[in-house]
Amino acid sequence: MSMVTLIHTREELFDEIGKYISSEESVRLIEKAYDYAFEKHKDQKRKSGEPYFVHVLNVAYELAKLRVDPNTICAGLLHDVIEDCNVDVDEFKELFGEEIYEMVDAVTKISNLKFVDEQEYQATNHRKILIAMAKDIRVILVKLVDRLHNMRTLEYLPEEKQKKIAKETLDVYAPIAHRLGIAEIKNELEDLSFYYLDNEKYHEIARLVESKKSERDKQIDIMMQDISIILEQHHIPFRIFGRSKHLYSINKKMVTKNKRFDEILDLLAIRIITETETNCYEILGYIHAVYRPIPGRLKDYIAMPKMNMYQSLHTTIVGPDGRIYEVQIRTEEMDEVAERGIAAHWSYKEGKTRSQKEVVNELRWLKAFEDNSETNANQYMDDITHDIFNANIYCLTPRGRVIDLAAGATPIDFAYRIHTEVGNQTVGALVNGVLVPLNTPLKAGDVVELRTNKNSTPSEDWLKFVKTNHARNKIKAFFMRKEYEEKEESIKAGEDMLKEEFRKHDISLDYLDTKKLDRIASSLQFSNGHELLYAIGCKSMAPINVVEKIIKFGKREVDIETIEKITKRNSERNQTISKTGIVVKGVSSMKLSLSPCCSPVYGDDIVGFVSKGQGIKVHRRDCPNVLDRKRLIDVEWDPNRPDTKYEASIKIFSKDRSYLLTDLVTVVAQYKANLTAVNSVANTEDLTATTSLSFMVNDLEHLDTIMTNLRKVDSVITVERAIK
Ligand code: MN
Repeated sequence: MSMVTLIHTREELFDEIGKYISSEESVRLIEKAYDYAFEKHKDQKRKSGEPYFVHVLNVAYELAKLRVDPNTICAGLLHDVIEDCNVDVDEFKELFGEEIYEMVDAVTKISNLKFVDEQEYQATNHRKILIAMAKDIRVILVKLVDRLHNMRTLEYLPEEKQKKIAKETLDVYAPIAHRLGIAEIKNELEDLSFYYLDNEKYHEIARLVESKKSERDKQIDIMMQDISIILEQHHIPFRIFGRSKHLYSINKKMVTKNKRFDEILDLLAIRIITETETNCYEILGYIHAVYRPIPGRLKDYIAMPKMNMYQSLHTTIVGPDGRIYEVQIRTEEMDEVAERGIAAHWSYKEGKTRSQKEVVNELRWLKAFEDNSETNANQYMDDITHDIFNANIYCLTPRGRVIDLAAGATPIDFAYRIHTEVGNQTVGALVNGVLVPLNTPLKAGDVVELRTNKNSTPSEDWLKFVKTNHARNKIKAFFMRKEYEEKEESIKAGEDMLKEEFRKHDISLDYLDTKKLDRIASSLQFSNGHELLYAIGCKSMAPINVVEKIIKFGKREVDIETIEKITKRNSERNQTISKTGIVVKGVSSMKLSLSPCCSPVYGDDIVGFVSKGQGIKVHRRDCPNVLDRKRLIDVEWDPNRPDTKYEASIKIFSKDRSYLLTDLVTVVAQYKANLTAVNSVANTEDLTATTSLSFMVNDLEHLDTIMTNLRKVDSVITVERAIK
């Protein structure tokens, strides 16, 4: 495995820090964080048996190697104390300030992310979530080196855990390191993951590399000497060294490009570091003058930096021995960026502080993960930015489960995503520990704790502010079920009341038998017995009326014949009423009625809704009252047009003026439609009026003609079909 430095002492850490931080104040702060973390972790051990503090120490050390600012080093030292050591938040803020607290808090939140459903959370989502949660690039750096040290000490965990963590590292952390341009960390994370995920392959490649090493080293040495001679002749400053590809990338090339080990070109690689950009191009020119370059392999990343700010000249040449060498040429500064990426770009310089805004802006670097889409980089970045920061927000339960919601979602949306039951019983929400109104829009990273009450039910107001369809549907479903249950309850109550009344008048309870009751109901103008019981339960019908009806039909002996006669007459009457001109496929005896809410007329696109006890209600297909109903059935207009008129209702929005209503009514009369209802409401504030008209039409064509002509009336702004 790659050479890594693990440190064990305070001196080693402060030596590294001393290389770039000298301010006494800064050093004192770091020392304070060191002592605090040391004290808090002093009784904890890692799986390896080492003191836990060694982990924290190495995280801080790696951060110092990246030359981060003093606060980030403190955050590295303290990154595990909130999670593991029962630290008082106020005390922590008092000691280290808000900024360090925010960083540690974000690291803690990210560490607590649990991806409940692995299917749901793909690696890309996982990365986006992590970045969206971090909000600050420095938090990501802490997370990266935290993961780096955990990977370096992974051998102490059980195999299953090793594989899981290694996979996550390869899928999530290595790409982030790559995006940030931190090649050193990216390569090490990849090799470590490779080691745990496919140990056999790892060793196979390591062996191959080893076996070729001496031969390769010899070739590279000769080539480097030759190039050195050329550059010295031209008095160009340079240092030159050979480098080897890391094992994971060799394996990846062998797999994705389907090449044999000895075919992988850049196995023989040379890097030249010089002083200026001009020197880079000069060196390239001299090398090309001597060695044949392979066409298509010259890449000028100096003029066209990669998205992660990587700059370098790449060329591939054929050596005198006929072998192929990849050569990279860059300045010291470019080399630093190549190895340490974004960290190099904003290395901490004493006396020059970076504003938080600047640091946050650096996040732009992270917004794209694909290197091959550089053609339309700007558009791509915009899209991804939108994806990460706007389209979705990721909130957390107090236990760290990630809930992915649409932007603008509220605690109620959150609650329904957890569970319908939880949504229905929500009475309050704490966001980041603070009680907020239930319509408060959530932000990425918010921790949402819900207050529920078993006896509480949803409020219809919620429908006005929820953002997700999921929550909206669940709330609607609740009210539909409630309506149904209430109806059932009323029917039961009606039945009890009727029984009571029967007993009082000594009438046989046999009359409650469905068939008999249906007949009685029919004689009382109800479509069936249930409707009658419902009317009694709602107190819109007195049970005594039923008793009277029964008595009227012949004391306690009901004259069934009479009832049947009445029923027949009624059903004939119903037939006329329900002469809707509609046919239902495959059904002949269903009770049909046109729903008054959208009042369909002959020719409208219609759909039937089977309502309990009321047969089929026919709605316009676009009626909002049926949009999300189930139990819809196909109905169509009877092509043998019945001689029926249909009541149409429309709404006219207009400016208000005198004689407006007269003009409107005149149009309706002109087209021989009988008015059945008129209502006009003037709004004195903006001098507009809303007029509702209902009238009888022959069909849709008739209605369209009237509406078209109403639109021509002076002052009218819109004319629409009404929905009640
Ligand atoms: Mn840690």
